[in-house]
Amino acid sequence: MTAQIIDGKAIALKIREEVAAEVARRKSNGKEPPVLATVLVGDRTDSLSYVTSKGKACQELGMGSISQHLPENAAQAEVEDLVKQLNADPKVNGILVQLPMPGHIDEERVLSLISFEKDVDGFSPVNIGRLAQKGRQPLFTPCTPSGCIYLLDEVGVKIEGTNAVVLGRSNIVGMPVALLLISRNATVTVCHSRTRDIASIVRQADILIAAIGRMEMVRGDWIKPGAAVIDVGINEKPDPTKKKGYRLVGDVNFDEAVEAAGWLTPVPGGVGPMTIAMLMKNTLRAAQLQQGE
Ligand code: NAP
Repeated sequence: MTAQIIDGKAIALKIREEVAAEVARRKSNGKEPPVLATVLVGDRTDSLSYVTSKGKACQELGMGSISQHLPENAAQAEVEDLVKQLNADPKVNGILVQLPMPGHIDEERVLSLISFEKDVDGFSPVNIGRLAQKGRQPLFTPCTPSGCIYLLDEVGVKIEGTNAVVLGRSNIVGMPVALLLISRNATVTVCHSRTRDIASIVRQADILIAAIGRMEMVRGDWIKPGAAVIDVGINEKPDPTKKKGYRLVGDVNFDEAVEAAGWLTPVPGGVGPMTIAMLMKNTLRAAQLQQGE
């Protein structure tokens, strides 16, 4: 079997076009464009590049963005005051606090302050709590996990009744994607660093979501023939033929998996582009909800 490659770049582009069209339609009806505020604390270059891309995406889609950058040594109170100020600002529809924050900042306290109506990253306790409870609906779900589910839906993979295996249990990817799969009536097994014999668990998976940050750990013979494989991992593999000296690969050995899976996301070009697309979708939704639409 040769897997169908899931083109996350094209699917994300389609979402962005839909969001841009809706933003333009609302503007033509006299509405203000949705505004996303990002909060960055410190100088991590990866975080800086993520918030820059998010601001750029807002611009490209006709939305507004406010970028707040506090120094590495910012005090907890300063970060909290900034979030409270953004909560109170009626021009701001969505707030995204870029993680991780410097070690001295209590992230949980900061996230818990974000008004859940503006929590476009879906990480505030109210939104995550609602996601975890049967019959409750979060206003927003985290972007990378929702991007994974969107990809499965888009290519027509059935989720209900399947065995899904999630590798990783982080707050950002593994746990929320597992909750989303459960809410879609999959039977979910979550594996982590203490799980024994991961390969044999993965072999049961109709749907596999790999989010462990371990380069090409999932081998082709772990994959149930025909399974849908979503590779969230982003790892730098040394490659002297590249200008940077490395290329990006996932948590799944692509060349092997492509021979076994039914569907497979590439890295890059799979889940990666979906994260910002889902954030843009959430920011538009925040504006719609706040304006009673
Ligand atoms: P993380 O916070 O480091 O969590 C990694 C998870 O994997 C943990 O639950 C850990 O288990 C588990 N794990 C680590 N090594 C393992 C092993 N050998 N066997 C089994 N489980 C193992 O990572 P993350 O933030 O979730 O990110 C995961 C990957 O996704 C990274 O490569 C990251 O770059 C990528 N990512 C991509 C996007 C995107 O937009 N495409 C977004 C976010 C993250 P324990 O809990 O037991 O420690």
